[in-house]
Amino acid sequence: MKKYLPLCLVLAACGPSPQNSETKWAHSSAERSWGTIPALLDYLDLGFKTNYDKLRVCVQGSESFQGSALLFETKLSYAAWLKASGQGTEASWDRFEFESQDICEPGDTSFGSVVIVESENKGSADRDPGEGFAKATVSCQKSGFSMRCSSGSTTYGWGGPAAIGYSYRTPSRWESISNRSPASVRLSPYVRWRSLESDLLEQKGLTEGDRKSKLELYRGLVAKAETVSYSELLDFMKGLSDSKLIAVADGSFQKLMQDFQKSGATTLNQEYTPTATGLHVLLHEIGHQFGMDHADNPSRDAETGIVVDGEQRGSQWVTSEASMAYGKPFLYLTADDQDGALDLGQKTLAFLKTKR
Ligand SMILES: [Zn+2]
Repeated sequence: MKKYLPLCLVLAACGPSPQNSETKWAHSSAERSWGTIPALLDYLDLGFKTNYDKLRVCVQGSESFQGSALLFETKLSYAAWLKASGQGTEASWDRFEFESQDICEPGDTSFGSVVIVESENKGSADRDPGEGFAKATVSCQKSGFSMRCSSGSTTYGWGGPAAIGYSYRTPSRWESISNRSPASVRLSPYVRWRSLESDLLEQKGLTEGDRKSKLELYRGLVAKAETVSYSELLDFMKGLSDSKLIAVADGSFQKLMQDFQKSGATTLNQEYTPTATGLHVLLHEIGHQFGMDHADNPSRDAETGIVVDGEQRGSQWVTSEASMAYGKPFLYLTADDQDGALDLGQKTLAFLKTKR
C-alpha cells in the first residue's frame, strides 16, 4: 500500500517542511498539502477561482468488488476522512459527486478523484491496469521433516493526492487553481476483493446479534448507495469503530502451505490470488489522498506529533495503531488516524488562507 509522491508542479512551493510539532497529532505528511482532498475543498470554500466547482469522484469496479457495494464503501471511506479532517460539514459533503463508471481514467481532469479497482481485462492502449502491482507468490521447500515457506511482498493499492497548478502575480497570492491530475486510488487487479458484507459474514469476534444488525444495516445502505446521506455514513462508520472491527485474515497462503505439506512434492513455487477486505485498503489509500503518510514508517519530510498509541523513534512519532500503518487491517479510523487528519486539515486551511 504505497503512495504516490505528491507531484510538485511549482518548484518555488516545494521547499522544506517543518520538522516538529508541539500539538498532539499523528503522522500526516508535511505541509505540501495543496493537492489533498481537504485542499480541493478549501479552494472552493475560500472562493479561489478554480476550473472545477464540484469534487467529482469516478468509481470503477472489478469482478470481485463493484456496483453498489463498492460505491457505498467508497463513500463511507471519504465520509470518515472528511469528518476526521475537521471539514465534515454537510456543505462540504455536498460538494462531492460520486459516479460509478465502467472505466475511469486516472488523467481525466474533469474529476477531482478517481477510485479504480483494477481488472486485468480493463486496460487501454496507453494504460496497463497491472502497472505497479505484481501477482502474489508462494515458495516452499521440504527438507527431511521440516518445511520452509516464504511469500513475495504484495502491493494491494496505491493512493495519492491530486496535482494542482496555480497561477500568481506575486507568490504570496494565488490567482487561480487548476486541477492538472485527479487524486487517485488504485486497488490491485491480482487480489480477490471481499466486500464488507463478506467480511462481516466471516468475522469470528462478533456476537450473532451484532453480526445480524450490522449486516441488515449494511445491506439497507448498499441498496440506496446512490442517495445515502452523510449522517447515515458516519453513523455506520461509528458502528464499525465501536466494534473495533479488524478485517478477516486471508487464509489462502496458509491453505497452500497445508496442501503442500500433505503432498508428495518437495518444492512449491507458484502464484496465487490472495483475498483481502476492500474497505481497509480503501481507507488506507484514500487516507493518502487526504495527505496522510505511513504512521508506522513516515517518510523523512513527514510531520509527526505525539500520538495516542505511539512511540517516539528519533525525532518522529510512530504508531502501528492506524489504518495508515502496515499493522492490523482496521475497518475504521483509529484515534491516531483522526488526530493526524485533523491536524493536517487545520494546517492546510490556515496555509491556503494566507494565499487568498
Ligand atoms: Zn500506503
